[in-house]
Amino acid sequence: KARTALTAEDYAQGILAGDRVMLSRAITVIESNAPKHFELGQEIIQKILPHSGKAMRVGITGVPGAGKSTFIEAFGTYLCGEGLKVAVLAVDPSSSLSRGSILGDKTRMENLAREKNAFIRPSPSGGSLGGVTRKSRETMLLCEAAGYDAVLVETVGVGQSETMVRSMVDYFLVVVITGAGDDLQGIKKGIIELADSILVNKADGDNKMKAMMARADYDQILHYLRPATEGWKTKAYTCSSITGEGIADMWGVIKDFRDNVTASGVFSKRRKEQTIEWVRAMTAEYLQNKIAQNAELTKCREDIERKVIEGAITPTVAAKAVIGSMERLLFTG
Ligand code: GDP
Repeated sequence: KARTALTAEDYAQGILAGDRVMLSRAITVIESNAPKHFELGQEIIQKILPHSGKAMRVGITGVPGAGKSTFIEAFGTYLCGEGLKVAVLAVDPSSSLSRGSILGDKTRMENLAREKNAFIRPSPSGGSLGGVTRKSRETMLLCEAAGYDAVLVETVGVGQSETMVRSMVDYFLVVVITGAGDDLQGIKKGIIELADSILVNKADGDNKMKAMMARADYDQILHYLRPATEGWKTKAYTCSSITGEGIADMWGVIKDFRDNVTASGVFSKRRKEQTIEWVRAMTAEYLQNKIAQNAELTKCREDIERKVIEGAITPTVAAKAVIGSMERLLFTG
C-alpha cells in the first residue's frame, strides 16, 4: 500500500507484529505537526494502548561528555545479549534546529544500531519542550506495543528536560564523571534528587580510583537526601562504558528496583500519577498557548497591567479584569 493509504488499523497491526518499518512510520505520524496526522496518530495510539505499558522505562541524563551515548550503546548491547528488545529514544528540546545532533544521533551508537533487537530514534523536533515530551511519550507507547522490553530515554542535562523525562519513566539514572576536584559541585543538587541511581562512568584506567572515591562521596550525600522513589534507597555505582565493567550490575540494580517497587505498589501508583500529570500538563499547555496567541487578549492584559503599575487599580482588581477578558475572549461564542 502507498504510504498515504495506510489506515490506523494497518499501522497498529504492523506495530503489534513487531514490524520496525511500520513502527518508524507510525512515529513519523506522531511527530508530524500536520492536523490530519495528529488525528491519525491518536487513532493509532488508541488502538495499541491496551498492548502498551509492559516495558521497563529508564531515563538517562548527564552533562554532555559524561558518556551517555557510550553507556547506552554498551548497556543496550548487553540487554540485547540477554535476549531483550531495547528501544532508545531521546528528549532534546534544543533539537528543533539541528535535528538530533546533540542527542540520540544514530551515528553515535553504531554497534547498537546494528542489533536486530535494538531500535534507536533521535529526538523529535517538536519546538516546545511540551511538544517534544508528548511525542516521546507516545513513541514510548508505540515501542512497548511493538514488544520492546526496555525503553531508554536519553536527555541532556539542560533546563527542564530532566524533570520532563523523570515524569515519563520508572527509573531515572544520572550519569556523572569525575572532574578536577569539583565533582560534586559540577552537578546540580536538584538533579541528584531526581535520581534512582547515580552512575559514575569512566571508571577505568587511571581514573578508576578517582571514580570509586567519587562514588563514596555521592553515597554520603545521598544518605541525607529524600529518595526519588518511595521505598527505594538511591545509591551511587561505578561503571566503564568502554571496558563494560559494571554494565551488567546496573541492569541487576534496575531489576531489583522493579521487583521492589512492583511488590510495594509504588510502581503502578507512579505510572497512574504520571498519566494524570501528563493530561494536566497538556491541558495547561493548551491554555497557555491559547492565551499567548490571542492578540486581543494580550492587548487587554497589557492595558490592565499598565494601570496596575500606575497605581490606578489594585492587583486583585487587575487579576479579576484579566480573568474577565479571558472569559470573554476565549471561552464564549
Ligand atoms: P555524551 O555526550 O554524554 O553522550 O558522551 P559520549 O558518550 O559522547 O562520550 C564522551 C566521550 O567520553 C567520548 O570520547 C567517549 O569515548 C568517552 N567515554 C564515554 N564513556 C567512557 C568510559 O566509560 N571510559 C572512558 N575512558 N571514556 C569514555
